[in-house]
This record gives sequence, C-alpha cells and structure tokens, in this order.
Amino acid sequence: MNRCERAARALPERGVDALLVLSEANRFYLTDFHSTAGVALVTGEGSWFFTDSRYIEAARRSIDGLAVEENTLAHPALKTVGQILYQRGLRRVGIEDAALSLAEYRKLQDTLKGCELLPASDLLQQLRAAKDEEEIRRMVSAQRIAERALEEALEMIRPGRTEREIAAFLQYRMLLGGAERMSFEPIVVSGPNSSMPHGVPTDRPVGEGDFITMDFGCVREGYCSDMTRTVAVGFATEEMERVYRTVLAAQQAGIDAARAGIPGAEVHEAAARVIRDAGYGDYFGHGFGHSLGVEIHEAPNASPSCRDPLPAGAVISAEPGIYLPGAFGVRIEDVLVIREGGCQDITRAPKELLILQ
Ligand code: ZN
Ligand code: ZN
Repeated sequence: MNRCERAARALPERGVDALLVLSEANRFYLTDFHSTAGVALVTGEGSWFFTDSRYIEAARRSIDGLAVEENTLAHPALKTVGQILYQRGLRRVGIEDAALSLAEYRKLQDTLKGCELLPASDLLQQLRAAKDEEEIRRMVSAQRIAERALEEALEMIRPGRTEREIAAFLQYRMLLGGAERMSFEPIVVSGPNSSMPHGVPTDRPVGEGDFITMDFGCVREGYCSDMTRTVAVGFATEEMERVYRTVLAAQQAGIDAARAGIPGAEVHEAAARVIRDAGYGDYFGHGFGHSLGVEIHEAPNASPSCRDPLPAGAVISAEPGIYLPGAFGVRIEDVLVIREGGCQDITRAPKELLILQ
C-alpha cells in the first residue's frame, strides 16, 4: 500500500472525506517529489497532485500513486480541487491546521465554499511517526555523511580555529559528501559558549581546556540526520570529565529504556534520573529527544510531556546534555530507530571523551 492509500484508509476514522495537503514536507512525504509549489488531494477514490509548469514534467516522470495534473493561472489547483470534491459529493475536508497560516485558511474557506474544513494535521503526523525501511535507509545514509564530515573536522580542529570556521568546514564536507542541504544550521559552540544548548557559532577561536560542542546533520534523499559530539581541546579538567561521563551514562540509560510501546516521557525520565542523581538536575533543561525524518523536528518526542507510546519505526534522537552557565556544556546525540523490545542506534561515531592534542 502506498502512502496515499494509507492516508486514504485513515480518513473515515478522522471523520473526513478528503485530505488537502499544502505543506512542503507533507507533499514530499506523499509524493517523494520535491517542489516549492503544489497541492495534493487524498480521497478514498484516488489521489491527485497539482503543480505548475516549473515542475510538471519532472513530477509526471517521478510520481506514482497520484494522478499528476498541471495547474495554470487560468486553472488554479484549488479550483480544480473544489470541482473534484463537488463532483464526488465530498464535503468534509481535512486540512493541515498546524501548518496553515490564517491567510491561507481564509483563502481555502473562500475557494472551497460549501466544504467543511476540519483539522487533520495529526493524520499525516501519525503516519510519518513510524518510518518504513526505505525511510530508515535514507536516514542512515544521511547519518554516514555527517559522521564522515565529523571525522574530517576532528583533523582540522586545533587551537586558533574559530567556531565559525569549524561550522563552515562541517557544512562544506557534508555537501561534498553527498548532502542535498543541511538539516539545520550547524551549532558549533566552544568554551563558555558551550553552555548555551543552541548557541550560534561565533568568531571565538578555540583554545586549550575548551569543550567544543558540534550539533549538525544533513539531508539525503529528502531525509534528515542529526548528531552531536562534544570534544575537548588540549586537556579536560576533572569536572569536565565528570560531566561528560554523566551525560554519556544518561544517554545510555535512555537508549536502554527506548522501545516500542513505552511513552517518550519514560525514556526522558530514564536519562534525567541519571543526571539528577549526579547532582546536575538543574542543568538539563530540554527533552531527551525528538523524532526526525522529512523534517528535523517531528512527533513524537522523548520529553516529559509526551505520554503517547512510541510506535515501532519511530526515529528519535537521544541527546541529553548538561549546561553549566558561564563554564561549559556537554551534549551527546545519537539517532535511534525504535523497534519492538528495544532500539537500534544508527549513529556510529565514537563517544568516549576525545581530547584533541
Ligand atoms: Zn542535533
Ligand atoms: Zn536533535
């Protein structure tokens, strides 16, 4: 069954007759085709993809499972969607409530008069939560590209290199290694900057006794990778080593807890407990992990608020951290595939504390 058929099968339980998909990520998920403009429509009687002259030839060649039609100024996609719905008597239309702007919503109301627009973002969100083996294969290949870039970066890092240079180098090596683009702007923070979990790379040169936290990833065949490693330059103090060991042990506790059927909150708690027991409970402020796939942040999460059981096939980050303001921070991040009875860590880069000389 293709993704449109699976989405169509889920329509009745959501109380809708059709699903209208405008967001780039969901369009890509349904079509496996990249375009900056397009509209997908899923119904129990077939699915359609509309795009304009810039994409139509490529779309016709690559898309299966949806009828591909060209929209033009004279025949806008939403007008054709309205006709399809009207002809088939489909009135209740699921829309991506979590992705639409108010202006887009008003435009839909205006164009699809006579239809009832109902929130349905969670339908595709739920399908996207459990990845199939092809999606996992793509994510592993994106992960390998990031890991190779890190290996190369570790060769170029030395005192005097700036955070910005290291971030630029990681991006360049990932692109050269086959990345389509970055999953997000790389985070490279050093010394006291490393206590800011999502700090932005600066012109600060790294020096002896610094931790450098590098959080980065790339997109390959439409799917994201994400990883973080923290390394020391020259030497690490006893406290740096203790914090590093604690974060690593917390990550391992989360990995040991992660399996299909348990709530993300429990995975988070397994890791958070290790950090609390070591006395650093006040310095781990974010969730243990987030799902990723077509987008870098997807659902479900492994955070205190996520009570839903993790589905088999969820691909979720494992990224605890400890951040001591004004001093330093440590985060270590792998990516896990949730399976029945356990999980598979797809990140291969070593995690023992590395002190670059
Ligand atoms: Zn990350
Ligand atoms: Zn992450």
